[in-house]
Amino acid sequence: MYDKKSLKAEEFIDHNEIVETLDFAEKNKDNVQLIDEIIEKAKERKGLSHKEASVLLSCNIEEKNQEIYKLAEQIKKDFYGNRIVMFAPLYLSNYCVNGCVYCPYHAQNKHIPRKKMTQEEIKREVIALQDMGHKRLALETGEDPVNNPIEYILDSIKTIYSIKHKNGAIRRVNVNIAATTVENYRKLKEAGIGTYILFQETYHKESYERLHPTGPKHNYAYHTEAMDRAMDGGIDDVGLGVLFGLERYKYEFAGLLMHAEHLEAVHGVGPHTISVPRIRHADDIDPSAFDNGIDDETFCKIVACIRIAVPYTGMIVSTRESKEVRERVLHLGISQISGGSKTSVGGYDEEDYTEEDSSQFDVVDNRPLDEVLNWLMEIGYLPSFCTACYREGRTGERFMEICKSKQIQNCCHPNAIITMKEYLEDYASEKTKKTGDKLLEQELSSIENDVTRRKTSEILKEIENGKRDFRF
Ligand code: SF4
Ligand code: SF4
Repeated sequence: MYDKKSLKAEEFIDHNEIVETLDFAEKNKDNVQLIDEIIEKAKERKGLSHKEASVLLSCNIEEKNQEIYKLAEQIKKDFYGNRIVMFAPLYLSNYCVNGCVYCPYHAQNKHIPRKKMTQEEIKREVIALQDMGHKRLALETGEDPVNNPIEYILDSIKTIYSIKHKNGAIRRVNVNIAATTVENYRKLKEAGIGTYILFQETYHKESYERLHPTGPKHNYAYHTEAMDRAMDGGIDDVGLGVLFGLERYKYEFAGLLMHAEHLEAVHGVGPHTISVPRIRHADDIDPSAFDNGIDDETFCKIVACIRIAVPYTGMIVSTRESKEVRERVLHLGISQISGGSKTSVGGYDEEDYTEEDSSQFDVVDNRPLDEVLNWLMEIGYLPSFCTACYREGRTGERFMEICKSKQIQNCCHPNAIITMKEYLEDYASEKTKKTGDKLLEQELSSIENDVTRRKTSEILKEIENGKRDFRF
């Protein structure tokens, strides 16, 4: 029985509710009147229910689809302006006891090189990432209570925050580790993590169990209820995601939004971010073995519909996607991207790099961070290394309140300018510096509030004089 307030996975992600939703969406995919009503409601920018958003996703009237794309673009502009927040993944260990059939780190893969970084190696990786200009990381690791216990993760977070190389600093560590206990989530919170990210992979229980045949991750309820435990442990920013390609995308889409509705209903705050990875080739993994793959067009439609359904939730796309696809989805709703990523353990520091491939998936967008930043600016975006909210305690419900009152944009824009200025001073190539200096001048003059503009301008001068780490 569907109950979004229930704490039981099978009740807040109720299979029958999803089936009925998909049936309703299918029956109404040509219902112009209903589609118009839903689009009108979405224009209020208060979001849509999973049922309403599913109708838009199913809609196959070309003219209406164009309206949906246009609205997604407008909502993206209204909430996020032209800013794109940058981050990089950092793989700590690929030891894993689970049997996920779509991931090369699955325990049965005997030929992939296994590696767990020592604290010394992590230090070198972080220095390499700081030297690229990164300020925000997403920690990734397999599930292995012997090799990667919680203490190892906590030590690693401590190491990462402690390193200050030249003008570099990692100011926000997001963590993507396996579902765990309330007690462990509390420890992660105390260690100062930003967002706790856990991909559901698939919301379809039967498929989930088939795709995760062995290991603790096999337990669908324990995995699906992880965000509730994380929030009980004091973590108020959580990141959802599914791996598109495992199950039918319409099913996943409805499940994802139901999960967001559940978090909002129970904890008063929805997900901080939603990620939209698609299954990719990797060692031992052939994506064509999964028959639910989605084409680029469908992928863009999913992004647009999520943007409309949850306007306040950040959306992330990784280097799994090509430059071309990333450009399209940036317009439609993506607010955060990774750049210069390595998806193997010890991939950033040259000393730690090995020819043996231990990547979790093949990176499609291989460009270095500096090139990605230059590209973003050339196509009209303002890259941002901002981590201000987390450091000012603007998280969870407080963050959402500020977001909904639109005050956040008064911080995001100057913070993007300031942090990009730091990048230009410390790490940019000549070409990027030139593009960036010109852009920042325009961005500065576009700040409407006189006091904020003056303050930002003063900070930019201070950065030129060598000072760092300012924020609104
Ligand atoms: S997806 Fe995660 S849990 Fe599954 S095998 Fe890969 S690393 Fe392990
Ligand atoms: S001010 Fe807050 S919401 Fe805006 S970019 Fe910075 S961290 Fe994100």
